[in-house]
Amino acid sequence: MIAEIISIGDELTSGQRLDTNSQWLSQRLGDMGIRTVFHTTVADDLEANIHVFQQAATRADLIISTGGLGPTADDLTRSAVATAFDKALIFDEDSFTHIIELFRKRGREMPDRNRVQAEFPEGSIIVPNPEGSAPGFWLDVTRTGRGPSHVVALPGVPAEMHQMFFQTLESEIFQRLGGQKRVIVHKTIHCFGAGESDIEQRLPDLVRRGRQPSVGITASKATITLRISAEGPDIEACEEKIAPTAQTIHECLGNLIFGEDGMTLEEVVIDRLTNRGESVAVLDAVTGGILGQWLFAADPAGLHFSGGSTLRPPTPSQDAASLSDDSADAPLTAAELAEQTRVQWGANWGLAFAKVNESNSPLPEVEIAATNGERVATERFTFAAHTAIQLPRAAKQALNFLRLMLEN
Ligand code: AMP
Ligand code: MG
Repeated sequence: MIAEIISIGDELTSGQRLDTNSQWLSQRLGDMGIRTVFHTTVADDLEANIHVFQQAATRADLIISTGGLGPTADDLTRSAVATAFDKALIFDEDSFTHIIELFRKRGREMPDRNRVQAEFPEGSIIVPNPEGSAPGFWLDVTRTGRGPSHVVALPGVPAEMHQMFFQTLESEIFQRLGGQKRVIVHKTIHCFGAGESDIEQRLPDLVRRGRQPSVGITASKATITLRISAEGPDIEACEEKIAPTAQTIHECLGNLIFGEDGMTLEEVVIDRLTNRGESVAVLDAVTGGILGQWLFAADPAGLHFSGGSTLRPPTPSQDAASLSDDSADAPLTAAELAEQTRVQWGANWGLAFAKVNESNSPLPEVEIAATNGERVATERFTFAAHTAIQLPRAAKQALNFLRLMLEN
């Protein structure tokens, strides 16, 4: 069973409004074990709508459209579906009575145009809209050589659409399209410290299309996330399918993995500190305070992030000045700064993060150091990423560095 969601409206295709209905409907269908393979967004244009519905019926077994069911001249979904599948529009007395009643309750006179909202493609089942004037409809479109494509049209107003989905559509889909409740469960595994393709190479054939459970990879600001998705009759069955794949991933990636199911690096660092009953203080001369902000938010009780300072990294001209000034004291190393920070803030760990001044590298280099007074470690890396992600990426590098020390 393949589903397609069609979102209709000029406000969507022109970029003035974001289509949230597709996301919501795909999640609901996913909860029912129905896989959405296509999202189509189309303007309020009759020809384009006819084309989109006809195309969808060739490739999807369940089509849910939202939008275009209003009473105005730009609301074309009824006509588009009727024309696409060669159906007449039939007037429905009961729906018209509901619309008249709705206007009466609101104390307003019903404009003549609203009559079209009681017209439906011949053969449709009407999907009532208790709070709104735009009922939806369900039309089965016959196809040669295979089962029908089920075309459902709902209004675009999200609140009305949600209510109609739960009141009528969900049970109708269960009854008519197989009946058996299927669920899809996702598990996510988050990695840091290697690229997307590098991670894929380390996994033996897991990211192959068609594999069950499926494994997908996405990258976001240098965090690589593996998403395992399994389908089954209930959550337990899905989790049983997911477990061996998750274990294989852990075996292949080891400590590149920092967490699961939405955990962030800063949450993991605070978690490790909590388990050890320890705290960290930070000197950040790289990210403009992102590091501290993240740790602060991840430690609402304030027990494991002691505080720290944010410095502005020296500008290139300041670098040149300090290099030419022989009398200046040699700058402290990151390791020395980490120890100083640890002592100054009375924390168990000091984490220091600074740009390297004397580097010959054409790209800026950054030094991270962490210490608990006994163990000290330092790492250098080039500060090279798209500017939009450079700072969060650097902050993650520092957090990951500390995490690895805390885990050893
Ligand atoms: P319509 O049914 O086309 O008259 O849409 C009614 C209202 O619902 C529009 O003014 C939009 O603001 C909203 N809407 C329509 N489609 C969507 C969508 N796909 N996502 C979010 N809002 C929508
Ligand atoms: Mg519209």
